[in-house]
Amino acid sequence: MANGSVRVRFCPSPTGNPHVGLVRTALFNWAYARHTGGTFVFRIEDTDAARDSEESYEQLLDSLRWLGFTWDEGPEVGGPHAPYRQSQRMETYTEIAKKLQDAGHAYYCYCTASELEERRDAARAAGRPSGYDGKCREVTPEQKAQYEAEGREPIVRFRMPDETITFTDLVRGELTFTPENVPDYGIVRANGAPLYTLVNPVDDALMEITHVLRGEDLLSSTPRQIALYKALIDLGVAKEIPSFGHLPYVMGEGNKKLSKRDPQSSLNLYRERGFLPEGLLNYLSLLGWSLSADKDIFTIEEMVAAFDVADVNPNPARFDLKKAEAINADHIRMLSVTDFTERCAPWLKAPFAPWAPEDFDEAKWQAVAPHAQTRLKVLSEITDNVDFLFLPEPVEDEASWAKAMKEGSDALLRTAKEKLESADWTSAESLKEAVLAAGEAHGLKLGKAQAPVRVAVTGRTVGLPLFESLEILGKEKTLARIDAALAKLAA
Ligand code: GLU
Ligand code: ZN
Repeated sequence: MANGSVRVRFCPSPTGNPHVGLVRTALFNWAYARHTGGTFVFRIEDTDAARDSEESYEQLLDSLRWLGFTWDEGPEVGGPHAPYRQSQRMETYTEIAKKLQDAGHAYYCYCTASELEERRDAARAAGRPSGYDGKCREVTPEQKAQYEAEGREPIVRFRMPDETITFTDLVRGELTFTPENVPDYGIVRANGAPLYTLVNPVDDALMEITHVLRGEDLLSSTPRQIALYKALIDLGVAKEIPSFGHLPYVMGEGNKKLSKRDPQSSLNLYRERGFLPEGLLNYLSLLGWSLSADKDIFTIEEMVAAFDVADVNPNPARFDLKKAEAINADHIRMLSVTDFTERCAPWLKAPFAPWAPEDFDEAKWQAVAPHAQTRLKVLSEITDNVDFLFLPEPVEDEASWAKAMKEGSDALLRTAKEKLESADWTSAESLKEAVLAAGEAHGLKLGKAQAPVRVAVTGRTVGLPLFESLEILGKEKTLARIDAALAKLAA
């Protein structure tokens, strides 16, 4: 479908750290905009002064940039519906709330919290719907005067039409809500502050949003918003009700909804661990969508070319960290070596690198990088994989030592050292032959023979291909480390 008039929006509230659910929503909106040649609007829903923070706002922008999303309208880039931060649009909301009230679509509700609670409890006890009962729909001038004399401060409540609301969700198909399940709801607080329930659809209307794609948790607000939209059309503020598509829940551990507070859901965690943005986006796209049954790994361009909301699966999606890492590993392999080495840079310096900056050796790094590239799941793993090249001594890892150093390891290491001394140090193959021969002399297969050598030289039982590692580290250091291990074994 090519339709230049598609306008989607991503409209997070700047509270806390960005999480993966939010990124999935951004991704699907962005991909849909790019797929259709439409417009991706980025709006900040910061009307809740108590919860919103400037820090979180900055993080949102930074995260979207890191992920590679560009927005056609929004903070910093502007656009025909600026400003795109709701905190800068307060007058608009106040004005529209007043118009809604003047036209009878909204009214002052003077009920106190405790009165509401009392009536709610009574309704529940009687088995009636427990939402707002419409008490203040008709308030006589005398009642109004009395409420005011009592010092009550009203909220503004939207009057839901007494009709069933049906709409076709782009993901879920036809959905129907009956009036008793969608009671009148607050749109402006007693202190005059407009609520999400008002500002979100008002801005969607003013910004001429055509498709609202958002998480399933917001599904219950959709019938209310459709009713409000109709009122806005009545006022001449809105033109058309947008289409809605609700993206499936993301489930975490134990088949529970992945929550914002779940450490697994923090975007920063994935950044810090060295996920590539393209790897993470590839994985997140699979939370509710797929390119094809037999293709899990694809580029963002391939996703954009194929993405349609109609193909989103309504069933809950399971967040699987192992799979996310496996996909990321594939994307690491897809990089050019140069790109790979550049992207590893942050993990080769403080605070991650345990070696002194002057001990870092660019030539050794360039030599080892291609071997590392095929083995990493996330970029942060690079540090441990190459530290043996830049630390004066290999790391001390007691578990690795205990695992590799068995009875007879000293004899094996002595033979290995002898063979390595006369090997060709410009050929990893020759170093392998040397260790293989040492193993044979002691009745050990290559795997068993190379373990003590690996631990002696790198400190760990697992790591990059051993013989390439030895070649890059060099003869002198390798043999000195074998000597040191022999001394330690003797002690
Ligand atoms: N600001 C809302 C949120 O962060 C946006 C919801 C929507 O997409 O309508 O949940
Ligand atoms: Zn009331």
